[in-house]
Parts: sequence; C-alpha cells; structure tokens
Amino acid sequence: MFRFIYNKNMAKNITLCIQYAEVLPDRVIALDKSDIKYLFNVMRCKKGDKLLISDGKGKIFSGRILNKNSIEIIKEEVLETEDRFSIILCQGLLKGDKMDFVIQKATELGVKEIIPFISERSIPKNSRKIERWKKIAKEASEQSKRKFVPHIKEVRKFNDLVEEAKSGILFWENSDKPLIKVFNYLNLDSPLFLFVGPEGGFSSEEVCFAEKFGIKSLSLGKRILRAETAAISSIAILSFLLENYDIIKIKNDIKL
Ligand code: SAH
Repeated sequence: MFRFIYNKNMAKNITLCIQYAEVLPDRVIALDKSDIKYLFNVMRCKKGDKLLISDGKGKIFSGRILNKNSIEIIKEEVLETEDRFSIILCQGLLKGDKMDFVIQKATELGVKEIIPFISERSIPKNSRKIERWKKIAKEASEQSKRKFVPHIKEVRKFNDLVEEAKSGILFWENSDKPLIKVFNYLNLDSPLFLFVGPEGGFSSEEVCFAEKFGIKSLSLGKRILRAETAAISSIAILSFLLENYDIIKIKNDIKL
C-alpha cells in the first residue's frame, strides 16, 4: 500500500475537502468563506503553501495556495485511505450532542454512510441538525485524510429503514450470538448495514421485525454499552474483520 508522504514543501499537513467546485488538475478554485477562514486564520497558511484537496467523492489531489481567495490544483495523488468494503451506520437518534460524537468517530473509522433513525424508545423524535452533521463529517474526513465524505441521510423511521436495508446486523444486548458469527452473513460485495439502538435500546418486537427482513441480531459482549460506545467499537471491530477477511475466514477456515 502506498502512503502519501509529506515532503518539506508541504509545509502544513492540511487536507481540504472541496465539494462546492469541481476539483481537477490545473483548475483554480475560488475558496468559500469558511475555507478561507480555516486556511488563513486558523492554519496561518501563506501564498505558495502546499496542501491536499479531496473532492469528497473518492479522489485526492495536491494543490497550492495562489492568493487569499484561491488555490490551484496540481495533480491527483495516490492515497489509500478508503476501505474496499462499505459500512452504513444506522444509528438511533441520540440525545444532546452524542450524535455529533458518533458521526465524527464513525467518519474517522471509515463508514460510507450514516442514517439516523427514530424507533419506539427514541427520546428525540426528530432533528434539525443534518447540516451540522454534514459539516462534522466533512471536517472529520479532512482530519483523517479521507477521499470520501460519508453521506449523512435524513432521519428515517426504523421500520422503513429495515425494509430498505433487507440485510445487515442489529446490535442487541439480549442476543446470545457473538459478533464473530458475523462471518456467516458477510458479503463483501454489498454494503453492510449496522443498526445501533438509541439510549433506550430496541424492543423485542423491533428485533423480531428486523429479523423477519433478514437482519441478524448480534451481541457485543457481556456488558451493556452506551449507544455511542456500541457504535464506535462495533465499527472498529468490523472494519478490522472485513479488512482481514481473507486471512481470518479462509486461512483459519472458520466454521460457526
Ligand atoms: N436500553 C438498554 C441498553 C441500550 S444500549 C438498557 O438500558 O438496558 C444502546 C444500544 O447500544 C443498544 O440498542 C444496542 O444497539 C447497543 N448495545 C449496547 N450494549 C450492547 C451489547 N452488549 N451487545 C449488543 N448491542 C449493544
């Protein structure tokens, strides 16, 4: 795997994700207000400084600062920061700013999409925070040098989302099936939907409903975790398992 190494011309270790203009080699891009503020006020960039620019859709480029309003794209770079599999996190809406935290960490951990949902025991019944969450995902992608910014979808109803997903995993603290059983259901060619409940958890009716639609309920261990811990730790474990799928599944010939 090739890792992009910063050389001394890349004075500042900055990645900017630009989704408001087409990012292509030799283009000059007029920066929006918040990127101007970030580059010049926060990061103290100067004319000529080099940086990385992602298009948020899977490509990353080197570029340089032309003046106080614009950057010039130089060329596409090879940078392996995306996984070959896709995880879609379906997260029960959480109270306060806990969703912010989950979105930031799930983005760092590489998820491709986050879909908040409302279920029987949800406390918040809706949210007007989507634009804020998109910004958090963009900034977390920049921090992690991701080439892809996860899509943050509108809040859905649990049942509708289950019907749409048709497969995937739901984490349920009452399940007797350990997470390793996931190997029985994995299909690397289609995205993996992960369902994590809200603070109040899932009702057994909801778990039955999901299972009818082919979603498997699994346990994350002996202890009950907070929803945000469950989301982040399950993504981390699954990413590891999926990244090493061939070694773990084939070499050890796991039969569950
Ligand atoms: N309401 C429950 C706990 C809910 S925890 C109670 O208080 O007893 C919030 C969510 O985290 C759950 O819906 C589930 O998706 C996930 N979760 C927490 N601990 C888990 C575990 N040990 N196994 C699987 N999922 C877990």
